Amino acid sequence: MKALGKVDIEGRVRLVMEGALTARDRVGVQDFVLLENYNSEAAFIENLRRRFRENLIYTYIGSVLVSMNPYKELEIYSKQQMDRYRGVSFYEISPHIYALSDNTYRAMRTERKDQCILISGESGAGKTEASKKILLYYAVTCPTNDRMAALGDRLLQSNPVLEAFGNAKTLRNDNSSRFGKYMDVQFDFRGAPVGGHILNYLLEKSRVVHQNHGERNFHIFYQLLDGGEDDQLNTLNLERNPQNYRYLVKGNCPRVSSISDKNNWKVVMKALPVIGFTEEEVFAINNISNLARLLGVDGSALREALTHKKLTAKGEEMITPLNFEQAEAARDALAKAVYGRTFTWLVEKINQSLALKDEIYHSSKGSSVIGLLDIYGFEVLQHNSFEQFCINYCNEKLQQLFIELTLRSEQEEYETEGIAWETVQYFDNKIICDLIEEKHKGIISILDEECLRPGETCDVSFLEKLEDTVGGHPHFVTHKLANGKTRRVMSREEFRLLHYAGEVNYNVNGFLDKNNDLLNRNLKEVMCQSDNQILSHCFRREEVIDQKRPEMAATQFKNSLMKLTEILRSKEPSYVRCIKPNDAKQPGRFDEVLVRHQVKYLGLMENLRVRRAGFAYRRRFEAFLQRYKPLCPETWPNWHGRLADGVLTLVKHLGYKDEEYKLGRSKIFIRFPKTLFNTEDVLEA
Ligand code: ATP
Ligand code: MG
Repeated sequence: MKALGKVDIEGRVRLVMEGALTARDRVGVQDFVLLENYNSEAAFIENLRRRFRENLIYTYIGSVLVSMNPYKELEIYSKQQMDRYRGVSFYEISPHIYALSDNTYRAMRTERKDQCILISGESGAGKTEASKKILLYYAVTCPTNDRMAALGDRLLQSNPVLEAFGNAKTLRNDNSSRFGKYMDVQFDFRGAPVGGHILNYLLEKSRVVHQNHGERNFHIFYQLLDGGEDDQLNTLNLERNPQNYRYLVKGNCPRVSSISDKNNWKVVMKALPVIGFTEEEVFAINNISNLARLLGVDGSALREALTHKKLTAKGEEMITPLNFEQAEAARDALAKAVYGRTFTWLVEKINQSLALKDEIYHSSKGSSVIGLLDIYGFEVLQHNSFEQFCINYCNEKLQQLFIELTLRSEQEEYETEGIAWETVQYFDNKIICDLIEEKHKGIISILDEECLRPGETCDVSFLEKLEDTVGGHPHFVTHKLANGKTRRVMSREEFRLLHYAGEVNYNVNGFLDKNNDLLNRNLKEVMCQSDNQILSHCFRREEVIDQKRPEMAATQFKNSLMKLTEILRSKEPSYVRCIKPNDAKQPGRFDEVLVRHQVKYLGLMENLRVRRAGFAYRRRFEAFLQRYKPLCPETWPNWHGRLADGVLTLVKHLGYKDEEYKLGRSKIFIRFPKTLFNTEDVLEA
């Protein structure tokens, strides 16, 4: 391209504006910071819609990647595509999950700083698919370490196994992850993946014993029944039809058209040896899938334990019989405990196989880690219970971290660039986090207290206690406190939290039981005598002897979240925000109401506001010069002076006004998108 004189440029700007605008009209902007009206939710959604229509499912908000679930296979994940994104700067090529993967990897390599990628979005939005694409990108493009050539394989193979045990068909997603997952991938000094580690959060154990209509239990049960060999099923005394099992029949949904249980069973059985499971362990896993019969323990002892309760009162042991409902509850509690503990064991086993390499971890050569967080997004169902309370609390914590880190990095950038900081207005959700987690005064503390308090406690007494203690909090409402002032009618069994993302009513029914998560002692006694290799590992003698009460579920979750935020805070974060276009799991349908809802719950407008607070756009001097130098005779074909002077010469030539831009130490900051568009359009002409 030849350099243009100033007159030429102005003429062309006018000429090309119309043409270029139509293209932008069609496909929207690839970075939301370039939206003219960045405060307008309507403009935001319109941009998403345009891009979605053109199968452009990725869009940036600065360095945040927004991803729309296309609900169809797009030809954008091939090896060629991976190559296109390798080593290329974020903004020079269309937005992609590979661009984010590659940039994160390069930042880790060049800055020697641990990175993390936080993926959020509601159920079915594409979080797990995104995390798999990132892993695949690393497995394919990173160099391999000869000694640990199989690591990439093991990382990838751990997915089908974890999904078999931790995912299920729900109304919202045929392959819904029912646990939160954080995975560290460790790289050696040459950038080859050498280790990994998984942390799992809050498996939805209740699914083992109950499924809503149209939903299923965890995939593994159906896989075994459909895919297991005849011999195997005979040995386990199982028959193929899932509808014959109490724990599988509730949802009345034995088959899912998008899922082949038989094939997936094969995939899992193939994956297990790759990630280091022995034959005996594989067999023991199958035994556990046979929850209905619980092999490996003495039948009569189990029967006794399932129908009686052992209590220690005043130093004496008492055995009391359980009524029918209580016995059923004991059976369910046992099934949940067995499944939950097996899942934990499975994750431990996978971790042994991926083992982080200590010598690298502590070496001075600059070992580095990329963490991947695939965790449940904000959840508002028709009926919200303890699980949603935990999930939404988790999202409050992540939002808090997001704001803290985004503001921090913005502020740091301004500081290093020597540009005056401009205050950003934002909502600090610390007040809600405190309401939930504060020691002695927060909702979780009150719940624990109520679980421990002797005498008659129940879910309703918990609610009353909440009203007494946090009743005056601006983000807490109940039927009684609302005094008819709330917009939506509340039942007497609910409390409402005004989350950063919106209000949610929680029904207190079951809160105490779920938080207690207790298993009768005599059941534990029977289980630790199991000759099943895995169960005997999961149920330890010490637990029966040790009378100390383990931490309750919500507190355990709170502590694991604290650890998680510490881990994340020590790393450089990148974000993927996933959105699903419709509830019908169909391609090509853009349900505006649903999308708007998610834009709100993901806090995207707030995100954009923070990012756009001062300047819409920033780029390093060399990148800016490289791209636009043909537009000015003095910078074309090469600028030989200081970079900052080159950029200044260029923008003066282009007619930028003083208030439109600022030059930092290494970057140019441009305040309005229009300035940049004009320059782009001239370049395109
Ligand atoms: P959950 O919270 O329930 O686990 P999720 O956000 O992890 O949900 P995914 O399981 O990743 O959701 O995605 C749901 C489904 O959407 C996938 O099974 C797949 O059919 C489709 N999907 C998601 N992302 C993509 C994509 N990039 N390309 C094609 N299909 C996709
Ligand atoms: Mg998932």
